[in-house]
Amino acid sequence: MHWSFAIAQDIIEKRKEQTHVVATGITPSGAIHVGNLREIIIGDAVHSALITMGVEAKLIYIADTFDPLRRRYTFLPQEYEAHVGKPLSEIPDPEGCHSSYADHYLQPFLDSLADLGIKMEIFRADALYKSGMYVDVIREALSRKDELARIIEEVSGRQLPDEWAPFNPLCAVCGRITSAVVKGYDIGKESVYYECTCGNKGVASFKGGGKLAWRVDWAARWKILGVTIEPFGKDHASPGGSFDTGTRISSEIYHYEAPYPIPFEHILLKLQGEGTKAKVTAMSSSRGTNIPVHEILEAVPPEIVKYALPRVRPEKHIEFNPSLPLLNLIDEYEREIGGIGGGAAGKIPFRHLITLVQIARGDFSHLLEIIKRSGYELREENEEELKEIKRKARYAENWLRTYAPPSVKFKLQQELPREEVKRLSDAQRTALKLLAQELQEGVTLSAEEWHNKIYEVASATNMEAKEIFKAIYTVLLKKPSGPRAGWLLASLDPGFLRERFEAAEKR
Ligand SMILES: [Zn+2]
Ligand SMILES: [Zn+2]
Repeated sequence: MHWSFAIAQDIIEKRKEQTHVVATGITPSGAIHVGNLREIIIGDAVHSALITMGVEAKLIYIADTFDPLRRRYTFLPQEYEAHVGKPLSEIPDPEGCHSSYADHYLQPFLDSLADLGIKMEIFRADALYKSGMYVDVIREALSRKDELARIIEEVSGRQLPDEWAPFNPLCAVCGRITSAVVKGYDIGKESVYYECTCGNKGVASFKGGGKLAWRVDWAARWKILGVTIEPFGKDHASPGGSFDTGTRISSEIYHYEAPYPIPFEHILLKLQGEGTKAKVTAMSSSRGTNIPVHEILEAVPPEIVKYALPRVRPEKHIEFNPSLPLLNLIDEYEREIGGIGGGAAGKIPFRHLITLVQIARGDFSHLLEIIKRSGYELREENEEELKEIKRKARYAENWLRTYAPPSVKFKLQQELPREEVKRLSDAQRTALKLLAQELQEGVTLSAEEWHNKIYEVASATNMEAKEIFKAIYTVLLKKPSGPRAGWLLASLDPGFLRERFEAAEKR
């Protein structure tokens, strides 16, 4: 049984609710990376399992757009220093293309989720606050401030300052949500009186005039949105952590049962430098080492992401290496699940396409020609078919550009690489001549026929096949190794090959 069904089964046994709300979310303080995606993938898997088991459920996503900018991240311009402390929804887009800072980082992620075929209801925290949905929970929190403080202190072991309040007012003058202190409140007027370090003394409405402190906010939203299930990073699950405080606040203050927790491990990103040791780093959006989801989806087909991430149980970490291991994973997917892309695209293995696009060098009509030459049937009048090939080829090209190790990259040499060819042995030259002789006018060989031919020539000349492979790569690619020789040769024009092999034989 897939782990998501085991969890769904456990939820059905332990919870009294008939319908479920699976909550996921993130603070869009920077590009949203693959590590964050895990939460959505887990939520989506459990949600799907529940639906499959006949349980009513919905998947929601809460973007913490009302959270403050914690500091000026290195990717932000100098003038953003002035925005530190303001809610992300109230800060301008650093690149000017969206309505706010929050949306600039949120939108590409939401687009990626659409690419992944994950549907959920989206909530923006600033809109929830501004709409008044929080008014009741804010009133409750302010009137029971001392109880809240006691719960937080007991659970976290942390001492709260005397002026602590469960509500952080948004200062009307400096725009920060981190620097004003609550001096009093009026339940009837649904307002908080505050003093800010900027010198301003003001009144903030329960309706969008500030937000609840994080540990209180989490519990409050469970009640507001009816959350019954929530996956979250294991750091929140540690004893005395925010889930523990949330659970008590939820039951003691809001009389609401905390959601069924699904703590999960990190995704570890493995980046390989040029032949150097691999680097393993836990991913975090505010630290440097991460890959935004939308960037990964430029080089990795969404079906692969949806295949790879849910395979690992939430409590186990995922090692993500977008270099060769990713290519192996795609191989495995295409072997076991099916080819990526519809029509002809689905029949061309991704690894093979990696070779073909390098020969075509960005020329799509040339690519189509190479595909046909390689023995694939192509309905060129069928636009859908061409679109699918274009899409798969784009993944291959982007992967080559972004994550491919040097070993899989090559350049078909337009001219015979004379220096390298000089170093070939006489036996290697003879082998090339024999291969050239196979290519009389009108002859085309398939990848398999090429493969067999090389072995025939090897036994006829008493050579090791690998010496012939080396000679082939040298005359075509100017390097001693390359992609599968059968694929490479079958995709090239036989006339070109004959000329090249003959030229090499002559020195
Ligand atoms: Zn933007
Ligand atoms: Zn202020």
